[in-house]
Amino acid sequence: MPANLTFAALKTAVKSGEIDTVLTCIVDMQGRLLGKRFHAVHFIESGFEETHGCDYLLAVDVDMTTVPGFKASNWTRGYGDYVHKPDLSTIRRIPWLPGTAMVMCDLLDHHTHAEIPHSPRAILKRQIARAKALGYDAMMATELEFYLFEESFEHLRDQGYRAMTPMVRFNNDYGIFGSMKEEAVMRALRNGLYGAGIPVENSKGEADAGQEEINIRYSDALDTADMHTITKNATKEIAHQQGRSVTFMAKYATAKAGSSSHIHQSLWSKGKPAFFDKDADHGMSQVMRHYMAGLLKHATDLTYFLAPNINSYKRFTVGLFAPTKAVWSTDNRTAGYRVCGADTKGVRVECRVGGADLNPYLALAAQLAAGLDGIDQKMELEPEMKGDMYSSKKARDIPHSLRDATVAMDRSKMLRAAFGDDVIDHYVHAARWEVSEHDRVVTDWELMRGFERL
Ligand code: ADP
Repeated sequence: MPANLTFAALKTAVKSGEIDTVLTCIVDMQGRLLGKRFHAVHFIESGFEETHGCDYLLAVDVDMTTVPGFKASNWTRGYGDYVHKPDLSTIRRIPWLPGTAMVMCDLLDHHTHAEIPHSPRAILKRQIARAKALGYDAMMATELEFYLFEESFEHLRDQGYRAMTPMVRFNNDYGIFGSMKEEAVMRALRNGLYGAGIPVENSKGEADAGQEEINIRYSDALDTADMHTITKNATKEIAHQQGRSVTFMAKYATAKAGSSSHIHQSLWSKGKPAFFDKDADHGMSQVMRHYMAGLLKHATDLTYFLAPNINSYKRFTVGLFAPTKAVWSTDNRTAGYRVCGADTKGVRVECRVGGADLNPYLALAAQLAAGLDGIDQKMELEPEMKGDMYSSKKARDIPHSLRDATVAMDRSKMLRAAFGDDVIDHYVHAARWEVSEHDRVVTDWELMRGFERL
């Protein structure tokens, strides 16, 4: 389902007074929407052509700190502007905000109008174009998990995130009664997204107190990444409107299950599923086997794009449905890569490694880059693993920390060839900053362990 407003329809809605505000949104390195709120009349008169924003938006950490040492944006270069170019095929209504529409923007160089290479949307567009050049459309879906709390964002922040009350107090996996308790937020979210042109399939209670999952129908990879980002933002906004809060941290508490963002992937050729061969094992075509071989060969290298924060690595624990091993299996939730829909036209691979804190543009681009490399090199798929992979000594480990994942990304010839050296250096720098910020901070854990007893 494409975005639900054409530029012509937006103009009509603005003239009739139905829409008075247009949000122009870019995506930052953390996968957040940033931008401006336009008066709709100004947007349809001139804003639709382009607007501008400081280039530091692709060179800050989650705290908006001006991180030193980026080549592309720094004090020496004077932190100039990038062009925010509205992609007019993405205009949509925002039903949960009165009189409001939004549009996704690409980031362009102020002088040359070339796309900014390290912009997440540009990175994904380049890999999609690579797939298209080979004759494939990349179709993907991201599932999103998160926790809902009774208290507001402001209340929890002001009291230091201490006493948080999950909206449902028990493990409510698939629970219909339990998820009814969350319906004020979840129904508004499903219907709000649907009204924004985002085809919600369903939501469900998940495997720990207060945890929910929302599923959106698969689409081409760029549309999927846009929908993922808007869904995340919508969940926060709708929860906030009701005085509630929500978190997409990969792991918000030691004893709780983590929140994932599984990525379902298939390639299509001329409208037909290129991953399906009815006569092959599990219905998996040779193309699918090569693609998956690429995902697995480069699994370690691309972990950063699935787990970009210090906290992301705390999710990879045994026995809580998050994977610890980058191997493949059919319909087995202990494997990092699971084949779903075996022996049907819907046969696809689900990468289960990513957390809800991933940036979908970067994650989808890295998956595609690895899979396409598998196809380019006609890589042989390793044998399927069976049984409980958590305890398997042979299975390939997922890196244990952001530090390890950063080293692997930095050394990856495949990622450097696919994304470009400058782009990889940019993200390696961002990752190293995150590690060094964490290294200098004294945590509650250290205090509790050491204060009296060391
Ligand atoms: P699960 O058992 O993981 O919940 P679902 O049937 O709910 O599986 O599907 C999960 C996601 O996979 C949905 O978002 C769906 O749109 C998507 N999906 C279905 N078919 C395909 C496909 N061929 N390629 C990519 N994604 C797909």
